[in-house]
Amino acid sequence: MFSIRYNRATNHIAGIACKTTSNQSDANINETGVVAYYAENACGVLTRGRLAQGASYERIQDALDAARITGGRKVCKTCEKAALAALEAEAAATAPVEESKPEIVEGAEHQVGDKLFFLPGERPHGYRCPAGEVEVVRVVDHGEHRRFGTERFTYVVQVPGIDATRQGTDATELHKPGSVPEDYRFEWTYTKTICADCRQPVTYANTKIRTEPIERTGPTYYGQCTRKEFRVCVSC
Ligand SMILES: [Zn+2]
Ligand SMILES: [Zn+2]
Repeated sequence: MFSIRYNRATNHIAGIACKTTSNQSDANINETGVVAYYAENACGVLTRGRLAQGASYERIQDALDAARITGGRKVCKTCEKAALAALEAEAAATAPVEESKPEIVEGAEHQVGDKLFFLPGERPHGYRCPAGEVEVVRVVDHGEHRRFGTERFTYVVQVPGIDATRQGTDATELHKPGSVPEDYRFEWTYTKTICADCRQPVTYANTKIRTEPIERTGPTYYGQCTRKEFRVCVSC
C-alpha cells in the first residue's frame, strides 16, 4: 500500500521500501542486532518531517500519478525516483526470461542438442557413456592448436537427462541416426528387423519407434491398449 503524505509545497509517497546507502556491515549487525539494509521509506522527509496524510493507493503507478498532481503540489524528487526505480524492478521481475540458444559452432560436424549414436572406438580406459543414443551437450573447437592425432572438434555427449553418463568424444565415435555402421561388439548394430513402412530389412540401431493412438468408439478399460507402435527406419 502506498500513500501520499504532503506539506505545503510537496507530495511524498510513503511505502516504497528502499535499499539504504548506509555502509552498515555484518559486524555492526552483530553488535546492534539491527538489520537496516532496507529503510522503510526511500525518502528521509517521510521519517523526519511532520506531514499530512493523503490518499492511499494499491499500485505504485497510481500513487505516483496522484503525487504528481494532487493539491497542485509538486512531487518530491527523491520519492519520484524511488517510485520509478520500484516500477522498473517490478517490470524486470515480470518480464519473460529470454531463453538462451546455444551458439552454433562454425564448421563442426554436430551441434549442441543433436541426437546421435555413440559407438566407442579403441578406449584403453573404458567409457562412461554406454554405446547407444546420446545427445551433444557441448561442442569444443580446438582451432589450430590441436595435438597430433586429435580432431579439431570434440564433443561432450550424454544419454539424454543422465548427467553421470557424460563423455568426451569426437566425430569418429558419433553417428547420425540412420547411418549407424555395423559394429560386432554391439548386437543392435548388426541385428536386422523389417521396417513397418518400407518392408526393407534394417538394423535396430537405424530404426525408431512410431506411436499412434488406437481409435476406439466404445469405452476403454484399465489395461486395454490405447496406442499402437511400429518400428520403422529413421528416414521412413
Ligand atoms: Zn519525499
Ligand atoms: Zn523403412
